[in-house]
This record gives sequence, C-alpha cells and structure tokens, in this order.
Amino acid sequence: MFSMECEVCPVDSAICESIEKVVGKDGYSTRIADLYTYGFDASIYHKTPDMVVQPRTTEQVSEILKIANAAKIPVVPRGAGTGLCGSAVPIMGGIVMDMSRMNRILNVSVGDLWVEVEAGCIYDDLNKELSKHGFFFPVGPGSAEACLIGGMVANNASGMRAVKYGATRDYVLGATFVKADGEIVHAGTKTIKDSSGYQLARLMCGSEGTLGVITEVTLKLAMKPKTSAYILAAFDNVQDAGRCVSALIAKPLIPASCELMDSVSIMAVNKARGNPLPDCNALCIIEVDGDPEPVERDMKTVEEIARSVGAISVTPTKDKKLIASWTAARKAVMTSLSALKPGHSSVSLADDMALPVSKIPDAVTAYQEIAKKYNVTVATYGHAADGNLHTKMLLNPTSKDDWDRGAAAVHEIFDATIALDGTVTGEHGVGISKAPDFMKERVSSIKTMREIKRAMDPNNILNPGKIDQWEGTILTNLRYPCKEYM
Ligand SMILES: Cc1cc2nc3c(=O)[nH]c(=O)nc-3n(C[C@H](O)[C@H](O)[C@H](O)COP(=O)(O)OP(=O)(O)OC[C@H]3O[C@@H](n4cnc5c(N)ncnc54)[C@H](O)[C@@H]3O)c2cc1C
Repeated sequence: MFSMECEVCPVDSAICESIEKVVGKDGYSTRIADLYTYGFDASIYHKTPDMVVQPRTTEQVSEILKIANAAKIPVVPRGAGTGLCGSAVPIMGGIVMDMSRMNRILNVSVGDLWVEVEAGCIYDDLNKELSKHGFFFPVGPGSAEACLIGGMVANNASGMRAVKYGATRDYVLGATFVKADGEIVHAGTKTIKDSSGYQLARLMCGSEGTLGVITEVTLKLAMKPKTSAYILAAFDNVQDAGRCVSALIAKPLIPASCELMDSVSIMAVNKARGNPLPDCNALCIIEVDGDPEPVERDMKTVEEIARSVGAISVTPTKDKKLIASWTAARKAVMTSLSALKPGHSSVSLADDMALPVSKIPDAVTAYQEIAKKYNVTVATYGHAADGNLHTKMLLNPTSKDDWDRGAAAVHEIFDATIALDGTVTGEHGVGISKAPDFMKERVSSIKTMREIKRAMDPNNILNPGKIDQWEGTILTNLRYPCKEYM
C-alpha cells in the first residue's frame, strides 16, 4: 500500500537545530505537554507528534518543508484543530505545522469582490472585517468562532447556509500553497472568472493537508442580505420534517438555512438548556433572507408549505432574542448530547452524510432502524436543505462492546447513505473516521487521487496515512480509555 512507502524518520537534534534556524526558538516546541496537546483535534482520535512548528511566513513554511522532505519526516498542517474526522491528528508522528500565527487579513478589495487572507485567520474574525464593508464569507460552519480559513479550504467546509450560498470551494479564487519539496505555488487569480488551465487553487479544497500547505487564500465576497427572518416548524415525526425540506426546495424556495432536528437532539438540548425548543418529535428551523419585501413573502410561503406537509405548529419571527435562543439551541446539540445519558459520550462517527434532498426522509428512516438494530442511541440533525445530515452516537467510551456496536452501525449508516446516492461526508472531510467507507464509495476515483498525490508529494510526507491511505479501522488510535482500541 502507498501509505507504507512513507519512511517515518525521527525528529532528532540536528532537525531541531535546522528548524530553529528557520523559525527561531519561540517558533517550535518539543515539550511533552505541547506535543500531547497537538495530538488531538475534535475527533475521537489521538496520536502524539514529535515536534510542533508555528511558521509566520510562506517562506518559513517552504524552508521547514525542505528540511522535512529531505529527512522524510511526516508533516501535518493544522488549523484550529476543530476537525471531527481525525484529519489533523498526526497518526504517523512527525511534525505538526500549526498555521495559527499566519492570521492577517492582507487586502480587502470590495470593488473587485475579493479578500486576500492568510491561512491562519479565524473565520469569524474575517467576517467581522468584511461586515464593515457590507460583505461576508457566508458558508458559516458551526465552528465559526475557532476554525481557520486554511482548515476550511483543506476540508472544503460549509455549514448552515450552504444551500443558498454554497461551500468554501465556491469562494476560492486563488491560493498560495507550498508543495512537499518546498516549492511555493501561487495558483488561481484575483478575477471572478478564470478559465486558464487547471484549477489548482481548488485542488486544495478537500485535500486535507495531503497535497500542500496553504498559506494564503483569495476569496470571493458575497453581499450581506438586508434582512432575515426565521420560522420554526414542529412535527410529529422526522419524516414529515424531511418532506417539508424537499417541498420547500421543489417550490422553488431556497432558504438561507434550514436546520432539522430529531426527537433525541431536541430532548438533549431541552434538558441541557432549559427548554428553548418546543417539546416535539422533530422540527425545522428555517431562515429566509434578502430584501424586506421578498422576506415577508417567503415567510408566508414557508408557513404554508410546513402546514401542508403536517406541521403541528409553525412560529415565524424576526425577534432577535428568540432567534438567538433557537440558533444557540441548534448549535448546542453536539455538546448537549453528552449530558443526556450518564456514563455516555456523544462521539463523532458517521457525522456528516450528504444526500439528495428528496432522499432525506428515507435516510432518516434507515438510520433509525440501524440504531434500533444495534441498540445505540443515535441523534439525527443537520443542514437538511443541502441534504447534509449529522448523526451522533451516544456510547460508553470505555466499553469495547459499545464501540463495536457503534462501529457496525456506522458502516451500515454509510452503506444506506451510498445506496441512496449520498456521500459519506458532506463537509467535515474523510480523515480517519470515514476512510474505509470513502474508499468503498469512490472506488473509481482512488487511482487518480493517488497519481495526483504521488506527483505532488513523492516522498509521502504530507499528512500520510489519511483518506485513501488509511489501513486501520475506524476505531484505531481512539483517544478514549478503551484499552482494546487505544
Ligand atoms: C462544534 C463544531 C461544529 C462544526 N461545524 C461544522 C460545520 O457546520 N461545517 C463544517 O464544514 N465543519 C464543521 N466542523 C468541523 C470543522 O470545524 C471544519 O471542518 C473546519 O473547517 C476545520 O478547520 P480547522 O482550522 O479547525 O482545521 P483543522 O481541524 O486543524 O484541520 C482540518 C484539515 O485541514 C488540514 N489543514 C489545516 N490547515 C491547513 C493549511 N493551512 N494547509 C493545508 N492543510 C491544512 C489539516 O491537515 C486537516 O487535514 C465543526 C466542528 C466542531 C468542533
């Protein structure tokens, strides 16, 4: 297998000296506590690296990669470490390259509709700046306060507003990235249109740190809507909620966002946060945005459609306080779930399938049957209008039996998703937790992906062992105290 061609070499004192010459004493660390911390991301995995480096410039990234490539040391680029599939976990040791010091907004050119930003800039910080000009970078991941632009590009992140505004890849006009051998590539343009050759900047989208280290990105700007409103529609069952979503799209009415929650997610949030949501079996929180007049019209249409597919209550609002409590409740699903069942944690497995919107009711039914079959509590929620469903499982993380039943359910959830023309990951990436099922789903792409990887990283130093190179199971290298899988 290709992955094993990566010859892992130790980070010895000569390597440390060479790297110190590039980034200075305060630009790297080999302290045990730092290394342990950088062995995590927000996934269920952990592996301690040998060194952490924090470059400040593209040239420093280039010099570090030259050193690592010559010594064949793995390098894992890292944004904020909010990834949920283990893509930033240094599974083969080596160097973690923390990009958070490269956090400047370099240039905002509103007349040309672009912003040029370093890869370490936080999503929310970029939007704070853009909002001064009436623009925004709208994809809106749930981790907006922390995740970095480079990590978003590398994961092709998206979020609540993807149905109307698209994913990160739809905004990438250009990127500066550094190849494994240290060559600096300025790809793409500062133009809205570009049909000149291979779209190399977009090749970085979804590359998960395996093809190059992104250091700067030019993003297209979107105009901020003048106003928005929300509608909360409650249902007796999650299938009706799913039908509401496809009926909206078929109308056609493209909401700015549309979040679906099932009974487990609603119960978890209501228990943890003092009932911010109605007590029902399923709900959709739908956002419409634009100019005031179309927003009014869309609010009425959403209400009619929700009622026509069986909503038991519909609450339209522009009240900022109420909207804030709904959206905070939706964002709190993941954390609230861990408080639902004593001794159980919510784990990120099968966490972001994407399906054709019309298949959502079938998918939710299939997921519920699989959960019953394996006797695991599964919460289903997500950005349903773009077909993106999250499931989270509640498992006792110290129990081998729980993990085994969970893993079996995960593979069946993925099989059901693929059978419904869906994909195993819509926004979080492949990393480790989806690797075996991704390889089943994309059989016909793997050879070409490997050819690209070989051409750009012949020594296989960039984030080796991930995506199509993963050889373990989805339970290998768990960060939880389950001795069979640690
Ligand atoms: C509470 C919560 C909510 C979330 N909600 C969403 C959501 O709604 N939508 C969504 O898409 N995701 C979501 N995520 C997942 C995650 O936040 C995103 O995928 C995010 O884009 C990851 O960014 P990061 O900076 O943390 O990257 P990291 O996790 O640090 O890295 C992710 C991948 O990108 C690579 N990488 C990072 N920086 C670079 C670089 N400069 N050059 C090359 N490769 C690089 C890493 O090697 C790794 O493979 C959520 C996570 C959490 C914890």
